[in-house]
Amino acid sequence: MVDHNTTTKSISLASYGIHDAQVNYQWTARQLHDETIRKGLGVEASSGALAINTGKFTGRSPMDRFIVKDDITSDRVWWGDINIPFDPDKFDKLYEKITAYLGGKEVYVRDSFACADVNYRTNIRVVNEYPWSNLFVYNMFIRPEESELEGFEPDWVVINAPGFLADPEVDGTRQGNFAILNFTRKMAIVGGTGYTGEIKKGIFSALNFELPVFKNTLPMHCSANVGQKGDSAIFFGLSGTGKTTLSADPDRKLIGDDEHGWTSENTVFNFEGGCYAKAIDLTEEKEPEIYRAIRFGAILENVIMDEQGVVDFTDSSITQNTRVSYPLYNIDNIQVPSIGFNPKNIFFLTADAFGVLPPISKLTPGQAAYHFISGYTAKVAGTEEGVNEPQPSFSACFGAPFMPLHPTEYAEMLSKKMQDAGVNVWLVNTGWTGGAYGEGRRMKLKYTRAMISAAMEDQLNDVAYRVHPIFGLAIPQSCPDVPDEVLNPRDTWADGQAYDLKAQELAKSFKENFAQFESYANEEIMGGAPRS
Ligand code: ATP
Ligand code: MN
Repeated sequence: MVDHNTTTKSISLASYGIHDAQVNYQWTARQLHDETIRKGLGVEASSGALAINTGKFTGRSPMDRFIVKDDITSDRVWWGDINIPFDPDKFDKLYEKITAYLGGKEVYVRDSFACADVNYRTNIRVVNEYPWSNLFVYNMFIRPEESELEGFEPDWVVINAPGFLADPEVDGTRQGNFAILNFTRKMAIVGGTGYTGEIKKGIFSALNFELPVFKNTLPMHCSANVGQKGDSAIFFGLSGTGKTTLSADPDRKLIGDDEHGWTSENTVFNFEGGCYAKAIDLTEEKEPEIYRAIRFGAILENVIMDEQGVVDFTDSSITQNTRVSYPLYNIDNIQVPSIGFNPKNIFFLTADAFGVLPPISKLTPGQAAYHFISGYTAKVAGTEEGVNEPQPSFSACFGAPFMPLHPTEYAEMLSKKMQDAGVNVWLVNTGWTGGAYGEGRRMKLKYTRAMISAAMEDQLNDVAYRVHPIFGLAIPQSCPDVPDEVLNPRDTWADGQAYDLKAQELAKSFKENFAQFESYANEEIMGGAPRS
């Protein structure tokens, strides 16, 4: 068991305007775990993991995420409903309030890194109101050695106070909770929400601006792993599509489960030092790597347990979006450091609730660009506030909420890299089969795993393909360990005509969504659109 030792170093927060705080700097996982329980803020599960409740918010709140409009961002950010501008003066005032709130309190401060490649390393300092939030930071960012703390100067500072509420009328927020990035001050303030994902996705958003703009590196909302022959694979997908689940593969070393950069030196590196897995319906049988990672050091969020601390993973009474975070080293088979070479295969994961898209299909370069910009999935209940029913969703680059630049900037970088690397691109539907949501069922995880393995082992190169009449996707007609009839979605429906109608409906949604990007797209990309 690795548990980085506490340090003798101590720091003052006065320069941040946080006065008279009792600063608990760089505490160990054990200290933070015990402190959370001592303060009555969490309990220990039978697995040894810490179980906490994040409070009112059990998911991100995208409508309360802002970017300060300043000299750095004003001409570069794609402003709108996703990247909502915030006034610099308002930020300064709110910053004063949130830091005043933390003044005089006991706080938990942690220095860590983002970006596993030392050439891209970003120093992160996080100030947390709660010990368990600081344990999350320990789990999710890259843990420095004690010697690396000497002279540590943060590039980005995150101030996180779940107990502090903004006053919308005065402060310029939408409601009491907020997550605001300021690129001039290189600070993020997160208040009014205890959902830990806001901390990691805040830094992700910051890097998604800085890496392409200043370091010629493509940031990606994807997981990554590497095979025994050194062949990397990356898995793009929106929340709930299977990035974390499918990247945990006993035959391949995990690079990371959510955030990566693809450099101009032909490498792919993880931004993080841990994983943040969905826990709903988790079983040891279906997801052994993740299940076994839940032990001391891990934090379970919003799960229900019995009196013995045994978690009922099927219980969604607090939220569908139950989660567990743990450091990468809680997974047995990991790549150290978290870096791989150019991917050989790229998978676009989608959880299509209409049961229309094939479970696996091979994309042409034009289709790859089209589907990347579209970023289709059906939103599965839970990760976002207010989403309780699955609904179709298009999110550019499979991660629009975290992408400050215009989607085509990322898409152009990706297309060029895919071309240079000669990578295979696959669209994988981890969603419904045999009918739409309500009628059909979710694709069996073991089939999805078998299809992905077959693609990675070059077993889909020489099989027969059929082209989908509406989407134009090339569908393999056989795949090891998968029944043939599963591969063609129309054959899994009781009523073929009902399938055709649904497929046309979905194609129409794709086209309507893509209209906003058409003026940026060339003929090749438009050739990747559905046909009718
Ligand atoms: P996030 O961005 O929110 O972290 P994610 O892409 O990492 O999301 P996962 O945590 O991997 O998503 O969630 C996928 C969920 O879907 C898991 O709960 C998994 O058990 C379930 N699932 C069911 N069937 C499949 C399938 N065929 N393929 C992948 N996942 C499946
Ligand atoms: Mn994930």
